[in-house]
Amino acid sequence: MAEETCPPATQDIALNLKNRKNAIDTAMYGPLNPAEPNEEYWTALGAEWGVDVETAKKQRCGNCAVFIQTPEMLSCIESGLTDNADEFDSINEAGELGYCEAFDFKCASARTCRAWVAGGPVLEEKEEDAVTAAGKRKISQTPAPKKDRIKGSSKNSKGSAAGGKKITFTPAIEASLRKKAQEHNEKAPKGRKTSVSTLKAVYRRGAGAYSVSHRPGMTRNGWAMARVNAFLRLLKSGKPANSAYKADNDLLPASHPKSSKKNASSRAITASALIPEEQALADALISITEKYGKFDQDGDGVWAGYTPAYENEVKDIGVKCSNCVFFQGPNGCQIISLEVEADGKCRFAVLPEGAVSGYDVPVRDEEDLELLLASAEAEAELSVELKKEEDYETPEQAILAMTEFAGLGYEAEPAFRAAWLRAVRNNENPFKRASVLAVMTYDSMDSDLLPKRKN
Ligand code: SF4
Ligand code: SF4
Repeated sequence: MAEETCPPATQDIALNLKNRKNAIDTAMYGPLNPAEPNEEYWTALGAEWGVDVETAKKQRCGNCAVFIQTPEMLSCIESGLTDNADEFDSINEAGELGYCEAFDFKCASARTCRAWVAGGPVLEEKEEDAVTAAGKRKISQTPAPKKDRIKGSSKNSKGSAAGGKKITFTPAIEASLRKKAQEHNEKAPKGRKTSVSTLKAVYRRGAGAYSVSHRPGMTRNGWAMARVNAFLRLLKSGKPANSAYKADNDLLPASHPKSSKKNASSRAITASALIPEEQALADALISITEKYGKFDQDGDGVWAGYTPAYENEVKDIGVKCSNCVFFQGPNGCQIISLEVEADGKCRFAVLPEGAVSGYDVPVRDEEDLELLLASAEAEAELSVELKKEEDYETPEQAILAMTEFAGLGYEAEPAFRAAWLRAVRNNENPFKRASVLAVMTYDSMDSDLLPKRKN
């Protein structure tokens, strides 16, 4: 396992300490010095597990099902070791280190916690299917007890886990997901970043899956956060720690090797006969829906303005879904969540040159563009310096460089995209118009596109 694909807590001491504290506080990870009798500790755990003290003393991290000691993991642990051992680390009697996959920290074989599960340690990586060849369930697939089988949510509507935007979370969970996204994005390369809304969708799925099955001793929040951690690890490393974990591949960016959107995205990205500006717009639309989910027809989110076939008065000249690069017949659209018809249309139609006869490809009005582009976010890190137009490989690169040059933060990036597209519509040079906005900011003719100034 290369260091960059190691679990973050094996390389980041502060994170490891934080996660260990969580295990101590919530699951009684301990005891501090396993060589001592610790009768009170073992009596309490024995009572929790319903076993006598002697049996409790045999249930240690070293034989826990989520204690990972694969050669790859041990090399991660070794590469992240430092001399800054604290009292927990400095007790030799605590035994060998392994990685606790339940709480995401380096734990010691002679300790334990209330979430202990029989079946470890894990000494080699296995290609496990959901159900083993012997027909046995994995420990993580233990059916949920009746009290944990909650159906539906009073806060979140059915289907909201498909994207993140309609989900309601407690402030603590929201803050935790926001921090995870931020920490991940700080180090993630281009194409491997994520958003809070995506992590919310993963969390929600994890919380729902808890009602079906989960590892004994885990809380719903812990189970859902573990799924978020697994998602971030997959996003960063390119492959899941458990090969059976595929359920969130639809939430990965299209450029990720495991993304289930890959084929759909490349269809639009490589659509022939698109002029560069339309191509850039198609790419931007895809990137927005990858972050926020498909556009809705209802008033919650971006309004797609879908017109059904019987109301589409311009279908005969070619303005229709079947000519649009996003159409996935017979009734699918890559960017709209509705069932569409071949002869329908919406305001986001991207139509290749020649698809429309006797009529210009419709121009989107300014209000529509701003509404659409207000959702865009920065995807890459580029030099702060502005170069010549020909030095940028794509409009996306140029727009991001302008955003960074302007120094107004990444929330200003949609303004540069919008200025670029305004110029395209007016047959002006889009690079120049967006560059003027980057240099003159609030004194530019496109200053209305920028975020409101903070007092
Ligand atoms: S879950 Fe298992 S490996 Fe993790 S701290 Fe508890 S006993 Fe140790
Ligand atoms: S016209 Fe609109 S609804 Fe139809 S395929 Fe294109 S984007 Fe989708």
